[in-house]
Amino acid sequence: MTINQSGWRPEMGNAEGGGIAGTFTGNRGLMLEEALIFEIGDTATTGVDLADAPTVASRLGGLDRNREIGLPGLTEPEAMRHYPRLSRQNYAIDLGLFPLGSCTMKHNPRLNEKVARLPGFADLHPMQPIDTIQGALGVIDQLAHWLKTLTGMPAVSMSPKAGAHGELCGLLAIRSALEARGDPRAVILVPESAHGTNPATAAFCGYKVENIPATAAGRVDLAALEARLGPDVAAVMITNPNTCGLFEPDMKKIADAVHAVGAFVYCDGANFNAIVGRVRPGDLGIDAMHINLHKTFSTPHGGGGPGAGPVVFSEALAPFAPLPFVEQTDHGLVLVEEETAGEHHAQSFGRMVAFHGQMGMFTRALTYILSHGADGLRQVAEDAVLNANYILRSLDDLLDAPFGESGPCMHEALFSDNGFAEGFSTLDVAKGLIDEGFHPMTVYFPLVIHGAMLVEPAETESKASLDQFIGAFRSVVERAKAGDQALKSAPHFAPRRRLDETLAARKPVLVWKETQVAAAAE
Ligand SMILES: *Cc1c(COP(=O)(O)O)cnc(C)c1O
Repeated sequence: MTINQSGWRPEMGNAEGGGIAGTFTGNRGLMLEEALIFEIGDTATTGVDLADAPTVASRLGGLDRNREIGLPGLTEPEAMRHYPRLSRQNYAIDLGLFPLGSCTMKHNPRLNEKVARLPGFADLHPMQPIDTIQGALGVIDQLAHWLKTLTGMPAVSMSPKAGAHGELCGLLAIRSALEARGDPRAVILVPESAHGTNPATAAFCGYKVENIPATAAGRVDLAALEARLGPDVAAVMITNPNTCGLFEPDMKKIADAVHAVGAFVYCDGANFNAIVGRVRPGDLGIDAMHINLHKTFSTPHGGGGPGAGPVVFSEALAPFAPLPFVEQTDHGLVLVEEETAGEHHAQSFGRMVAFHGQMGMFTRALTYILSHGADGLRQVAEDAVLNANYILRSLDDLLDAPFGESGPCMHEALFSDNGFAEGFSTLDVAKGLIDEGFHPMTVYFPLVIHGAMLVEPAETESKASLDQFIGAFRSVVERAKAGDQALKSAPHFAPRRRLDETLAARKPVLVWKETQVAAAAE
């Protein structure tokens, strides 16, 4: 087999398994195939004419390159086309509804991008003198003010760079507080339905992780929790709303019971988008909670960009919060970067990051908060919950909704594979949705539900787009229930069919070698 001009190889086409026959180019209509950049063009050519370098005596001590550098050699139009072609094979919230539960793929208003790109923010350097970055410190300080106000918590640490990083920040503060009172403890309790990052963070901090069971209604089993609480428990990590898309109504009772044994309550606030403006976690007795700015206050994330995970703290934990933080003084805003004996931050556990945090995320989040206002943010939460319940009630006649009986859900709707034809699974439905033009929902999570399907529509989706998604979902589920064999080999219309995802995860091929092309061309 040969590589043609566009780098296409016949095996790249979508004709395997007797599917639709390949075209000459491998393109399917206006959906263009694209090879790796090393496979198109020619490493011996270059798109730029460079004058020969003058001969100079080498001062590299024998470390000169002694073989071709092997960079891809493309013309300007070839290089220019490569990236848009690849990007068209991707799926994004800018293209359609992105129903990924737990991840909250929010619409990112263009206004955010405009503000984040203002030269005064975009061109800052983290090591600029403080008096030249008063505006940026003002953004951090204002955002901190709103996060404290919205959560009803007295302190916030802005520097953690993701939700999981925020969990680490919260647990390190809890550990410092316990050590400061000479009472180090060994155990962290985590509900069965928790996001994987919760037990991972606790284990990373050196704690022993123990599960708390859930009730039939998908909530923390308060009696089981109370029975386990004791002087060895450092903290309880609870997600509220939880990863079944349900509010924990016993949160205050849980917090009271945890505090009664001298332990702390960590709340995973990744789902704050469902309650922002409606509930203040501080009123529920929470000691530390991370906020995924990229889930609650827009900003693209996942493959689309970085996140930010500020952590709000109760009075009890605030003294242990990490550096740095912004403080208002008589001479303007300053960045407190070091512990000072006798000052209120003398007990800080240290720092999480080299600089101040994700400045680009801060500008986007503050823009989002200010452009929505208090009433707008409340409506964000209400619309997120409304959209998820519309999906839940439009599908629960066809699909098993494990906690559907226990009342409305919050921002995401949970279904199981119960009732599919023999041999059909959640994975088949996910792949079938790709043929319908949708990114699949979250699958096989939370683990407490067999064949879980967790659907989260952003609050910005219109009824028309929800109806289209529901129609597609119903059609695919009906095929899974009827045992339609064609669904077993979906997707049929995507650039690739079913990939060996386990092999890709276990043995990723991350380095391109010329020999791979040679082998493939055999
Ligand atoms: C997304 C998420 C996290 C982790 O947040 P990252 O920003 O991805 O590190 C933790 N818990 C829950 C419930 C989440 O949805």
